[in-house]
Order: sequence, then C-alpha cells, then structure tokens
Amino acid sequence: MQKILTANSTNLLESHKKTLRVIHDILKQAKSVLIGTHEHPDGDAIGSALALLAALRVQGKRVTVYIPDPAPEMFSFLPGFEKLTTEKPDSRSYDVVVLLDYTKMYRTHLADEVKRHGHTICIDHHHDNVGEARYNLVVPEAAATAHILMAFFEETNTPITNDMATCLLTGIFTDTGSFMHDSTTPEILKVAASLMSKGARLSHIAHETYQKKALSGLRIWGRALSRIVTNEETGVATSVITLQDLRECKATLDDLSGVVNMLNMLPNTKFSLLLTEYRPGVIKGSLRSEPHKNVDVSKIAGRLGGGGHKLAAGFEVEGHLVQRDGKWRIMAANK
Ligand code: 5GP
Ligand code: MN
Repeated sequence: MQKILTANSTNLLESHKKTLRVIHDILKQAKSVLIGTHEHPDGDAIGSALALLAALRVQGKRVTVYIPDPAPEMFSFLPGFEKLTTEKPDSRSYDVVVLLDYTKMYRTHLADEVKRHGHTICIDHHHDNVGEARYNLVVPEAAATAHILMAFFEETNTPITNDMATCLLTGIFTDTGSFMHDSTTPEILKVAASLMSKGARLSHIAHETYQKKALSGLRIWGRALSRIVTNEETGVATSVITLQDLRECKATLDDLSGVVNMLNMLPNTKFSLLLTEYRPGVIKGSLRSEPHKNVDVSKIAGRLGGGGHKLAAGFEVEGHLVQRDGKWRIMAANK
C-alpha cells in the first residue's frame, strides 16, 4: 500500500537532473532569496511561492515573496499568506531571484531587475516560457509549477512539512481545475495522495478555494451569466463585465474566477471567452476550452499578445467595453 502511495514524481525531472542540481546548489549557498511570480497570482503561483518560502526559511535564509497584485482572499488560509508582499523589493539586495509559474517575464513586474541580476532561476510548467533566466527549469509535462517543486523537493531530499504540503496541493488542485482537466494523470493523483499523507487536507483546500463565495462574487457571476452570447459559426460563448458592473457589485477580478469555465458548459460550445474591463481602458480576456473540443486557446491568446495553456489562456488589451445597438464592442481606449 505504502508503495502505491509513494509518488515517484522525481521521474518528472529525469531529463532535467543537471539543471536541478545547479539550482539546488545555488539555493543552498544563497543567504537571501527573492521569490517572484505572475500578476493576478493564482493558486499555483501563490501555493508554489509559499512552499518554496517555507523550505528556504527553515534553512535560515532571508526570503521575500513579491507578488505584483494582491493575492485573492480565498488563499488566505494558506500558511505564510501574510508574508506575501506587493511592495516592490530591490532585487540587488538578494543573492538569488527565483521566478515561479509566470509564463512571460513582463508578468512578474521584475523584468528589468532580473535582466540586471546575475543569479536568476525560473521554475515553470508553461510551454511558452522561453527560459529567460540564467537557470531554467521549464517542464511543460508538469500539471502545475507546484508539481515541479514537489519533484524538486523529493529529488533534493528537502523535507516537506505539513504546511508546505498544503501549499503544494493547493497549487496542483487549482491548476488541474479540481482534478478535472486533462492534466489529471494517474501520476498527479499519486503526487496528491503523497501530499495528503504529508498532512495536506484536500477537503479543506477544496472548501476554501471553490466552495466559498462572497455576496459580491455571486452578484458579479449573475451579471456575467445573464450576458452570455453564443456564436454558432465559431462555437464561442462570450460574456463581458464592465468597470461599472464591478463597482456596482463591489466585486473584484478575483470574484470572477471560474465564470469562464462555466460558459463552456453550454452544448455545442467549442471555447469560451470572458472579457473584463477591470481598470479604465484595460480589458482582460480569459479563454477556456475542454479536451474533446479540439481547440487550442493559447493560440488565440498568443495572437492577442497573451499566452497560456491549450485549454486555459489569457491576454490583456487596451480599450473600453461599450454596448452599442445591443452588441458589446471593444472601443479604442482614448475614445
Ligand atoms: P486566467 O484566465 O485564469 O487569468 O488565465 C489562464 C491562463 O492563461 C494562466 O494560467 C496563464 O498562464 C495565462 N494567462 C492569463 N493571462 C495572461 C496574459 O495576460 N499573458 C499571458 N502570457 N498569459 C496569460
Ligand atoms: Mn500554473
């Protein structure tokens, strides 16, 4: 039984052993580490960052986790959450900078600093991460960045505490769409089982991340669902949320997490798109599809300057969402 539950997640890094060793040595020698991740951080970004923070702090290092935007409240149950900072640190005062789960450098808001810093490490599972750090551990086969970290900790005999297991399982749980996406392999379920045996409580994580909704959240979901438009030709189901909607519902971008997945529930929908003007003149697009639909939404996002995964991707464009003659349009930002 024990054998079945012991995840051999180290196989994941079989062809990355050299990089893994180098990264391990650099982190071992570092006295101070700056951890960064992407804007609008999600469960994988936050879970991975907090797990690495815990591992490095135990070793007596000075560690800071910088997040470009505030972390969604739903992750406040994660151990170490209060240590996340949105205050931009001076990367020169850290021996090493580690960037997690970020896809493209500009999304870390640390691009310039990182270019100047000699000791930079990237750990990511996004296939379109081109590895701009000095040392790059990019593993697209991994279900989440937390999955890579789990393998990294196991391979380097780094003890995984109860708190670290909670953070890692949250990363995996949220990035696999609660173990519903195609990335949910037997291997990742073994990794999850192993994290549970180290103290992570899956039911608690599921409750905190997906089964709690504030009134503002339910209200903004109502608006998004009431505005769905489908296009038979392209098979896209679209909805829009304006700044006014967010203000009136007292909602934030985080409250909308999950809506775009729901749009895919409509029969005959090939992919879904949620457009949200969350800052004046800035529209965030979220795209989702499902395995059997044969659509690669990362290609659509890529054409619009964004990126992501085959079934979940995003982009940002400038403009205002305006309704004209009953139809929603993106108008140039200066109009
Ligand atoms: P979400 O729709 O949940 O914000 O993002 C889904 C996925 O798309 C994320 O995992 C991320 O990889 C990618 N993504 C979202 N927004 C952007 C963006 O503006 N640029 C890039 N390159 N990727 C994005
Ligand atoms: Mn991720």
